[in-house]
Amino acid sequence: MNLLQERLAKYDLPQRVKAVDAYPYFREIDGKQGTEVDMGGHKVLMFGSNAYTGLTGDERVIEAGVRALRKYGSGCAGSRFLNGTLDIHVQLEKELAAFIGKDDALCFSTGFSVNSGVIACLTGKDDYIICDDRDHASIVDGRRLSFSKQLKYKHNDMADLERKLQSCPDDCVKLIVVDGVFSMEGDLAKLPEIVELKKKYKNVSIMVDEAHSIGVFGKQGRGVCDHFGLADEVDLIMGTFSKSLASIGGFIAADNIIINYLRHNARTYIFSASDTPAATASAMEALHIIQQEPERIERLWDITRYALKEFRKAGFEIGDTESPIIPLYVRDMEKTFFATKYAFDHGIFINPVIPPACAPQDTLVRVALMATHTKEQVDRAVKELSEVFRQLEIPLHPVED
Ligand code: PMP
Repeated sequence: MNLLQERLAKYDLPQRVKAVDAYPYFREIDGKQGTEVDMGGHKVLMFGSNAYTGLTGDERVIEAGVRALRKYGSGCAGSRFLNGTLDIHVQLEKELAAFIGKDDALCFSTGFSVNSGVIACLTGKDDYIICDDRDHASIVDGRRLSFSKQLKYKHNDMADLERKLQSCPDDCVKLIVVDGVFSMEGDLAKLPEIVELKKKYKNVSIMVDEAHSIGVFGKQGRGVCDHFGLADEVDLIMGTFSKSLASIGGFIAADNIIINYLRHNARTYIFSASDTPAATASAMEALHIIQQEPERIERLWDITRYALKEFRKAGFEIGDTESPIIPLYVRDMEKTFFATKYAFDHGIFINPVIPPACAPQDTLVRVALMATHTKEQVDRAVKELSEVFRQLEIPLHPVED
């Protein structure tokens, strides 16, 4: 073995979990996405998808993708900057800007590349990027790629954020970047307080990641900034197509000055191929549907409220979630893997969450709801997962109605 192989061979997590036959990753789905999926000849209830609006299998979204594939071809073979701009990219950007309530928007080929490209290029070496310590990996990478100074505050701790702001000089940019909904534990950023701090200190700008809130919160699913009535106070709003918009890709929305700068400086926009025609058209169709069918978001919230009540009643520890993401705390790494595997054996697909996606003492399995889930499906998940938790001796504290 050479030095590189020797070092990498020490990374043994997959082997350790494979050894106990509980490897929970890269499980193959062999049919259409929905609340029930085909996996290796079995039907499995899907509680591990981020497709909150339940649109990934919708015929209209699929047909829009097929039509675009036929009209424009399979790929764009270049970046937006050079040969890869289609009229539907520009149309989608206009529609997203109007939807979010900003002057303009840019579409990138993934949500990850929005954060890693935008955050990296906005601020200079004397400026500060300030993040919540539970921000998504793509925000962390954008921050690391920047030449700016970097600060992290304790999750949702506004006193700590204020201390960080106080430690920065007045005459530099302080860019606060935060998840609107935290993807692992389902809690919300304290946007009203963050906006107050923006007003209290000089030269503060805010960017919010709406990956898990577009199609979920706010009027017609405009996100948490809209939900709090703060879209005007937030300088940059990002979203992804890979969740409620049933496709792949992402966007940033902001004022004309910011967008014009990003259009010519965000490296993941300029030096990476544009969204495929099919992905762009499907995302656009999903965006139309969520605006035309508000009852879809109502259904998502009905089923979310029902599931929150039922999981709490059955005694699961579910933390501070206020969204369709329901964490079931296990607080033990090995049992988290086993809970995922046993749940799968019982026909329920959920995801394990372990460090670095959470603190070591907070390992959990994550349940996510879609507008298309039924109460019967939730009942089954609660029943099967209660059985799994009992089998693994993970404490449950059932409460009376
Ligand atoms: N931000 C957050 C909060 C996310 O959860 C994710 C994906 N899980 C992303 C950004 C990246 O989005 P995408 O998967 O579209 O690249």
